[in-house]
Amino acid sequence: MKVFIKTYGCQMNIRDSEAIAGMLKNANYEIVDHESKADILLFNTCSVREAAENKAIGKVGFMRKLKKDKPHLIIGILGCMAQSKGDELFERLPHLDFVLGTGQLHKLLDTVNSLVEERKQMLLTAECNDVLTQMGVHYNDGDTSNFSNYSSFIAITRGCNRFCSYCIVPYVRGREISRTIEDVVAEARELVASGTKEITLLGQNVAAFGLGGNVNPPEEGISPFADLLVELNKIEGLERIRFTSPYVSYFNDKLIQTMADCKKICHNIHLPMQSGSNRILKLMNRQYTREMYLEKVAKMRALMPDITFSTDIIVGFPGETEEDFMMTKTLMEEVGYDNAYIFKYSPRKGTKAAAMDDQISQEIKEERNQILLQVLRKQVESDIKKLLGTTQELLVEGVTKTNKDRFFGKTDTSWVVNFVPNAETKVGDIVKVKITQANAVTAVGELV
Ligand code: SF4
Repeated sequence: MKVFIKTYGCQMNIRDSEAIAGMLKNANYEIVDHESKADILLFNTCSVREAAENKAIGKVGFMRKLKKDKPHLIIGILGCMAQSKGDELFERLPHLDFVLGTGQLHKLLDTVNSLVEERKQMLLTAECNDVLTQMGVHYNDGDTSNFSNYSSFIAITRGCNRFCSYCIVPYVRGREISRTIEDVVAEARELVASGTKEITLLGQNVAAFGLGGNVNPPEEGISPFADLLVELNKIEGLERIRFTSPYVSYFNDKLIQTMADCKKICHNIHLPMQSGSNRILKLMNRQYTREMYLEKVAKMRALMPDITFSTDIIVGFPGETEEDFMMTKTLMEEVGYDNAYIFKYSPRKGTKAAAMDDQISQEIKEERNQILLQVLRKQVESDIKKLLGTTQELLVEGVTKTNKDRFFGKTDTSWVVNFVPNAETKVGDIVKVKITQANAVTAVGELV
């Protein structure tokens, strides 16, 4: 039978979808690239913002017509929204066959198999750590271009214990659990043997890896995450190591020094800031201050001068004053991010922040969003120009959308560079280019 998987949300969801695709492929299901070709439709959903939920519900609602034409079609909602809404989804979408939460993804194959045998609505949303056992499955076919071979995600933790006051993740992904170093290294070795050049380690808070769910950042000298990086750095054939997302207070000196010492760790760090105001950070239950954030950035820059940063920022958190917002703007300018995901605060039912007084109007959120986007644009325009005339190493990612004669690749600091390939250039190669143009957000280079 043929399966189409549609993924919403973060890289962790992309990784889960890849593991699901791998599981199904091993059981002789075929993964297809369009819903019209499928017998089974899987929607792996996100709950972080209301808009993401509405998008997925709208899409599944739209599938009702397809199911009328193809009554044998099986439709399932998976992931975070399945976990948070559960039963309610059957009321809104009566043509839905099953709802499978984040703790039950390892039961996907059994669920699909049993629905092929016998039709009934199935709800599976219990929390279960067994999901860890499925973390190592990959889908490396490449036929449908859904998942790449040269760059792979490895999930190293699941869940989160931090309970930031705006965030639904601890409720839908459960408590934090980590894999072992041996397990992750074995998976990385397998991926490299099958062609992977770059791995991205994933977790809600990757730097909490191996800390046993302790909510406090580790003491100086302790960082199982750094120990993991050291082991991964030794893998022959692996060229690049990335990770996302770490929580700033978990960057102790041991971790920062390890990042500087391990040559394969990319000098591009996604470091969620959320707000530059200590008052708002406290309301968000983020356990760091603006000063600590800047101190960690300075330490990383001292050891890795070429490092670039990206971040997550929320504007319009309940009670955010103009003064608080200006603190965020100035912190953004001080750090100088090369990328930022700026979100207008969206209340999530069941979180502390949703019940807070002083919710901010949509209009103010939009205005603040635009101001920060402008700050980001200016920063990117000025930073990209610094690449001009330099020689950069790229991991080749593919053909550009606008010009089939050009390839594009990424520097280890995550700049995208377009270039004209030679006859031997392939996706997944590491090549050197000299940067000849750098405008807006994309640079152009020549092979050297
Ligand atoms: S660290 Fe905070 S924002 Fe990140 S997943 Fe955990 S609770 Fe959510």
